[in-house]
Amino acid sequence: MPLEPLALTLALVHFGVPLAYYWYAKTVWLPKPWNLKLDEAYKPKVTIILPTYNEARIIEERLNNLYEQDYPKELLSIVVVDSASTDGTLELVEKWVMEHKDIECKILREKCRRGMVPAINYALKTNEFSGDIIVFTDADALWPTTALKNIVKYFADERVGVVTASVTYRKCGKPTTENVYRSYYNRLRVAESKKHSTPIHNGPLIAFRKDLLYKMGLLPEYTGNDDSTPASVAAFMGYRAIQIDEVVVEEYIRKKQFWRKVRRSQHLIIHFLKTKKYVKSKNLYKYSKDLEIIWRIEWFLHIVNPWLLAASFTLFLLSCMTSLSPFSFGVLSMGTLLLGSKAYRTWILQQLCLVIAAIKNLKSIEIAWSK
Ligand code: GDP
Ligand code: MN
Repeated sequence: MPLEPLALTLALVHFGVPLAYYWYAKTVWLPKPWNLKLDEAYKPKVTIILPTYNEARIIEERLNNLYEQDYPKELLSIVVVDSASTDGTLELVEKWVMEHKDIECKILREKCRRGMVPAINYALKTNEFSGDIIVFTDADALWPTTALKNIVKYFADERVGVVTASVTYRKCGKPTTENVYRSYYNRLRVAESKKHSTPIHNGPLIAFRKDLLYKMGLLPEYTGNDDSTPASVAAFMGYRAIQIDEVVVEEYIRKKQFWRKVRRSQHLIIHFLKTKKYVKSKNLYKYSKDLEIIWRIEWFLHIVNPWLLAASFTLFLLSCMTSLSPFSFGVLSMGTLLLGSKAYRTWILQQLCLVIAAIKNLKSIEIAWSK
């Protein structure tokens, strides 16, 4: 019998903390102005780094999409870094480069596959590019033509170190219902960015001030992501690392979307466990109260909160089975019925991802993942 009050408390904390945080961020932080010095006329040199591993199916479409950016071609360069693709990706890139001589496009080849982050670091180490701003993107992303110019103008303010775009999902070329949840998610990221920085960034488009990447000693390789981790390192170094809502890019949903989310959650968990310590160990850490608040709440939401739901569910189930408690039965039935709501279902799946990811992390983390 005493199981129920505990189970109920855990559930209330699990749902209450993120709801309260979301509500606060949305009503207090989100409406704030950026308070940054934006400048449409600021046109630095930009280098786009596109890592590829077996992307023959979509690589041409991706390069065409970058080519169509509304940004002066003489200020733009592309670096494709490939890690021994076996499906003809490189041949397609070479052909594309021959056919598009009016844009600088370099190809870097790794002899064997070590993962996306090592590949990007390999590219950064060659230091063969002219851009003041380095943008990472991904083969299965699509940008609107105005993406780059609207991202770049934020760098006119020297306090800005990293800018990422908001993301929506596409399935077979069409928007999906997944975006219902995604819109809450994007709003929270932007709200955190208005306050200081968001600890979670998006691989389909993330732009860095180049010097900063070298100051942090290239991308940390412990998480396997090229977005949230280096962006948060920049934020802990005292720069703003922001997500803007002015640019929205698209990402394709893949067949194994659930397992892709688990893999990304694995990276995020390691990110929250290690990144602050990492920055301190490199003597780059600069204290900011605003950032600490955001980091601690997101840390709680990713590391602790999913387990409160798991524990609460287990306790209700136990109390149902051991004492046939109508209250527990009622709560569990309600929880199941609510799964009819898309936003709630996505939330629950997200918690499941984080729990599975934490367990998988005990074994190993995927730095180079199957496709
Ligand atoms: P997701 O977006 O998180 O699901 O990850 P993707 O599978 O789309 O990978 C992100 C980008 O990194 C894609 O453009 C991949 O082709 C590329 N990529 C993945 N693994 C490697 C790798 O080992 N080496 C290189 N060079 N690129 C990789
Ligand atoms: Mn991708």
